[in-house]
Amino acid sequence: MMAQQKPLTTAQRQPGGLSLVPIPLQLAALRPPTAPLEPEIDDELRELEAVSQNLEIHTLSANTRRAYVKAWRSFEAFCQVHDLDPLPAHPETVRWYVAWMSVQMDENGLPRFSVATVRQGLAGIADRHLREGLLDPTGHRGVSGLVRGLAKLRATRPVRKRPLLLDDVLRIVRSMDHDVYPAGVSAARDELAIWLGFAGALRRSEAAGLQLNSLELHRLDGVHVHVGASKADQDNTLPDIVVLPFGETPSTCAPCAVHRWVALMNAVDRRQTMTLLFAYQLDEHVCGKAGTGPGLISSADLMSDAPLLRATYRNRKSARIHEQGVTGDALHTMLLTRMAEAGMNPSAYGFHSLRAGHVTQARRNGASTEEIMRAGRWRKAETVNVYDREFNPAARNSVMRLGL
Ligand SMILES: [Zn+2]
Repeated sequence: MMAQQKPLTTAQRQPGGLSLVPIPLQLAALRPPTAPLEPEIDDELRELEAVSQNLEIHTLSANTRRAYVKAWRSFEAFCQVHDLDPLPAHPETVRWYVAWMSVQMDENGLPRFSVATVRQGLAGIADRHLREGLLDPTGHRGVSGLVRGLAKLRATRPVRKRPLLLDDVLRIVRSMDHDVYPAGVSAARDELAIWLGFAGALRRSEAAGLQLNSLELHRLDGVHVHVGASKADQDNTLPDIVVLPFGETPSTCAPCAVHRWVALMNAVDRRQTMTLLFAYQLDEHVCGKAGTGPGLISSADLMSDAPLLRATYRNRKSARIHEQGVTGDALHTMLLTRMAEAGMNPSAYGFHSLRAGHVTQARRNGASTEEIMRAGRWRKAETVNVYDREFNPAARNSVMRLGL
């Protein structure tokens, strides 16, 4: 390659180099080469080629070169697994590779490749193609757009919400006006939503998506909540079942919250609603827990596919329960408002704080990873460990066994 670019004098092209009058190079180029290059010229070019390669290598730092080699190996391995050509690579192949990198998680459930690492991986692929004199597939708009999208997504990834422990939850629930009208109507709904998030470890979208028939009264367990599938959804035949257990006391009893709210939804008019609210004895179970009398509702009240958590309208004098369900966002806002009303600072918290709080409180009370995985419906133990790392540094930590 270098031999063709190196200007040669005609004299050098002559067999034996005997011509004394140099012929212009352009004319000489028209002649077919009649003999191989002289050995000493060949050696010189080889040396120059080595020098140029050495210079090229020094344009990259040793670290960058190592990163490029590693990036290329990773890309080659990806192509091999998926039976794709790495060199030259089609831009679509590079897009798939970027997508693959974006979804890889480490053992803590966090992204394995940062955006910077993804960019470096692409630089390695580009470098290899350019050195081979091939078109750079990473320069394609489809590839650069994907990386920009990933960077944006990662930048807006919300910070994990702080957990709300049992004491926090009780403080919020106790600050509500339960046995007055009209405030008691939304208080009943909000208390149930909070127990679904804390005891049920439900995500806000899961809580908002529940229907009346997602709930099942259970004589021994309290209430079973079918999450992720309604009875109408036959495709999803294996719904997760979450348990809301009877509370030791009515103040920690999620089934009581179920009974109170569903009874209010069933109230035919304002008078009946008021009667229910004023009759509430908050220190007595109304959930049918063994030895506490009948519950306020029965299984027949949970037959409908209407939304469980519904929007409420309330002014100073009256409250109404709408037909349509609440949104996950509304539950989030509700929690922050209730926290502020309870005199707590809601920044750094969200509806997810209830789920995070479930994990954290359960771990502090000695729950095993397996138990937490079941309650939170996690498939991987690593996800639970992320919560431990952030919120429970003392959990399963030998420092607690030093006898201090
Ligand atoms: Zn109860």
